[in-house]
Amino acid sequence: MTDLPSVKNRLTHIGERIEAASLRSSNKSESVKLIAVSKTFSDQRIRDVFKLGQRRFGENYVQEAVDKIDALSDLDIEWHFIGPIQSNKTKLIAAKFDWVHSIDRLKIAERLSAARPAELPKLNVCVQVNVTGEQSKHGCSELDVMELGQEIAALPNLNLRGLMTISETSGDLDAARSAFRKLREIADQMNQKGLKITELSMGMSDDLEVGIEEGATFVRVGRGIFGDR
Ligand SMILES: *Cc1c(COP(=O)(O)O)cnc(C)c1O
Repeated sequence: MTDLPSVKNRLTHIGERIEAASLRSSNKSESVKLIAVSKTFSDQRIRDVFKLGQRRFGENYVQEAVDKIDALSDLDIEWHFIGPIQSNKTKLIAAKFDWVHSIDRLKIAERLSAARPAELPKLNVCVQVNVTGEQSKHGCSELDVMELGQEIAALPNLNLRGLMTISETSGDLDAARSAFRKLREIADQMNQKGLKITELSMGMSDDLEVGIEEGATFVRVGRGIFGDR
C-alpha cells in the first residue's frame, strides 16, 4: 500500500474544489466528472485510488496505458485516452479505451472508427482544439474544428461527445479562462449547426476551478490526486 492517507486527503480535497467551483458556475456539481490522470503512476497507485471510489482514469502513453488496462481488468474502470495520437497506435486505442479526448485530425478519427471492435459500443470522442494558436500545442485549429466535427459525426463507430483543450498558460488563470470560454463558444456554434457537443474537457490540477466556472463537464487531474511525478 502506498501513502494512502495522503492520496485519500488529496482526492477528498479535489472533490471539495470541484464542489465549490460548481456552486459558482451554472453547472450542477454532478455534471462535472473527474478524470484521475494516472500517467507514470503504477498499477498499485491506481488500485488505491479506485478503492477510494474513483472510477475514471486518464492515460497519455499508449503502451504504458495498455499494460495497465490489462493488469487492472478486474476493476470496472472507465479509461480515457488524453495524449497525442500517432496513427500506428489507433488500433490499440480503439480496442482498449472508452473515451478519446485528443482527436485533432480526420485521419486519426477514421482509423479509430475503422478499428473499433464490433462487440464494443461506439467509441466516445472529443476533438482537441488549440484555442490559443500556440505553435507548441497539439490540437485542431479553431478554423477547422467545425468541419472536423461534422466529419467525425458521420463516422459509424465514433460518438462525437465534446471538445477538449489544454491550457498551457503556466499559471495565468485569466489566460486559461479566456481559452476555456473560447472552447465553450466553439461548442455553442457547433451545436447551432446540429452537432451534439455536450462535454467540455478543460481544467487540470491548477486551473480546474476556472474550467468549471466556464462550463467544464470533465476535469483532468493528475498531480492533485497522485502527488508529484
Ligand atoms: C498530464 C495531463 C493532465 C494532468 O496534469 P496534472 O498536472 O498531473 O494534473 C491533464 N490533461 C492532459 C492532457 C495531460 O497530459
